[in-house]
Amino acid sequence: MFSCRYIRHLKHSYLLLLSGAIVSFFGSMMNWLDEITLPTKLAFVEDILLSIGLILSATGLLLLFRHQVVQHSLLKKIAATDPLTGALNRRAFKAPKEHKHSERTVFALVDVDHFKRINDTFGHDAGDFVLVELAKLISSHIREEDQFFRWGGEEFLLEFRQAELAQASKRMESLRQLVESSHFNLNGQAIKITVSAGLAAVSPGHGGLEKALKAADEALYRAKGNGRNRIEMAA
Ligand code: GH3
Ligand code: MG
Ligand code: MG
Repeated sequence: MFSCRYIRHLKHSYLLLLSGAIVSFFGSMMNWLDEITLPTKLAFVEDILLSIGLILSATGLLLLFRHQVVQHSLLKKIAATDPLTGALNRRAFKAPKEHKHSERTVFALVDVDHFKRINDTFGHDAGDFVLVELAKLISSHIREEDQFFRWGGEEFLLEFRQAELAQASKRMESLRQLVESSHFNLNGQAIKITVSAGLAAVSPGHGGLEKALKAADEALYRAKGNGRNRIEMAA
């Protein structure tokens, strides 16, 4: 265990476990010598050494455990986060325990129009910058109870909770207008984008979620076909 690189890396736990083992070892050795020779007057020293060894080892294990708990929650967060924009990612959406999408949920699939042109004109880094800024804009625009996810390259999934299709489409339309009127400044260059969105409400019954996502995707496809920079709702 003491040669394990992971534990050696955790200095405090390592030192506590190592010293606990050493102290316990000496306590046990004294105990053993006591057994094979005449009992010495130092029997109480054995007990003290064994107790100290136990306390050191238990503290080391406790620190190790605490570190594991922190690492676990950190890994969970990393696994659910898109590294570029800091938004939740698709994996977070699919995480079974957080699957709380109710029937009064409307999904909006949002896609940047002609994003390839942004990359081609301003470079890939500028494209990344635009995605980060767009995520900030979405985050500032949606309500606290809503959520959004980076769904893929230049696509975001918005989840309007406790909302009817009509209310959600109003909010989505105002976000679309906000994006249209914004410009993202990068090194003195003002980059403008527009987005298209497809909306669909989760309908009651089994498979409602998958159906709504598919319907939102189809509506987005229509928004693209109908000229972009617009929103369309599922039939
Ligand atoms: P449309 O209006 O039909 O959506 O056109 P589009 O150009 O936005 O769509 P298309 O699918 O042709 O191109 C998407 C581009 O997005 C291609 C890909 O290189 C780029 N992209 C995807 N992910 C990222 C990313 O993380 N960073 C950058 N900079 N570009 C990305
Ligand atoms: Mg796309
Ligand atoms: Mg696009």
